[in-house]
Amino acid sequence: MHRHSDLPKAFADLGIEVRFLKALRKMEFSKPSEIQVRMIPPALDGHDILGQARTGTGKTAAFGLPILQKLDPARRLQAICLAPTRELAVQVSGELKRLAEFANLHVVTVYGGQKIATQLHQLGRKPHFVVGTPGRLMDFMRRGALDISNVRFAVLDEVDRMLDIGFRDDIREILSRITGAHQTILVSATISDEIRRLSKKYMSEPVEIDVSRDKITVDEVDQTYVTVESCDKSRLLRMVLEQERPPVCIVFCNTKAMARKLAGRLHDAGLNVKEIHGDLMQRKRERVMDLFRRHKINVLVATDLAARGIDVSKISHIINYDIPADPEIYVHRIGRTARMGERGTAITFVTRDEGKELTNVEMLINREIPARDMSGFKPSPPREQVKEPPPPAPPSRYETPVVETAAGAPIKAQPKTLGSRFRTSRRRRRL
Ligand code: ADP
Ligand code: MG
Repeated sequence: MHRHSDLPKAFADLGIEVRFLKALRKMEFSKPSEIQVRMIPPALDGHDILGQARTGTGKTAAFGLPILQKLDPARRLQAICLAPTRELAVQVSGELKRLAEFANLHVVTVYGGQKIATQLHQLGRKPHFVVGTPGRLMDFMRRGALDISNVRFAVLDEVDRMLDIGFRDDIREILSRITGAHQTILVSATISDEIRRLSKKYMSEPVEIDVSRDKITVDEVDQTYVTVESCDKSRLLRMVLEQERPPVCIVFCNTKAMARKLAGRLHDAGLNVKEIHGDLMQRKRERVMDLFRRHKINVLVATDLAARGIDVSKISHIINYDIPADPEIYVHRIGRTARMGERGTAITFVTRDEGKELTNVEMLINREIPARDMSGFKPSPPREQVKEPPPPAPPSRYETPVVETAAGAPIKAQPKTLGSRFRTSRRRRRL
């Protein structure tokens, strides 16, 4: 028998009741993360909340615990949570179910790609909390199988994506169906100004919590970049994998086509690799994620959308095979490693046209990313000999941005061109 003194006291201090403390003990959550400390008390007090914290810091329990605790087991559906992808919906509801294990509360997940009949049946079993993707949720609402008009809690997980142009109308329609008074909680790793403005339409006097800024990339992630020609990337990747021998690694590509091609090549080279992107059938995606989660695959080649928010513990390496155009995506990606105190490695491939992207990332994380020493790597010989030296790089056309430091004092960020980052003159000549 466990005694009450074994229960995680720091969660009790936030106002969490014993029936949830028991679940937390079983889940081995000994103390709350920063976002949980900041979010649980105002959520229990009934405030609308806009919460920002980096990926992997426990946002699910931050909104899940207070909402579950406020649900009445004797009443019907009282809470909905919308998530942008099936995988995320499944992951969130899995966590909520574990949190609710001793609370006599029923959580149901609805998402596309699975039989309507199965989910209809589950909805018929009077859930207290429904987690789902917007499309499938609307589908059930239109069929009259799901009535959310009286829910008292609405959550948008990964709100930056949920209020992105593609989902915006669905979200508006879904939330407008809630007619009674309700508490709204929106969370994300990144929240742009536009999304912040939009999200306020759905909240009243929200408490804004942002624990992402000062630690936007953690010290535990060892970040480096390598300059490389596009045509040399897959060879470089094989060498990096050979050197690092990562136990659990995600290689990010910017497009589905690239992910597919690269996974094929690595597979042919005999690596234990699988791909995950939007072109794969739902079943297949689930199978791949399951293998990866159980660490049966060393290398997962992924696109951002397919891997978004996916929670796999102990990811040792993130490799940005393509640097993302949007620096916030970089943060999302590398946030998947070094979770909950582990260490992680992030290596980014940068072609000579992508100096600006790299600089943008450095400005966002407010830190310089050092070049990785790949002196053993021989770039492929130039296809044609360029006699003339290239013309000098045009002057930067964008203004030197000002970055806020943690202390609030603005510093000038010097945009770098990758020209200056190419070490060997040999490479510069052939470019
Ligand atoms: P986020 O939504 O912020 O990306 P998640 O809610 O998915 O993060 O949590 C990431 C992982 O950390 C999950 O495996 C979750 O079970 C675990 N976790 C969350 N809170 C804690 C905690 N207080 N202590 C230990 N592990 C936690
Ligand atoms: Mg999450």
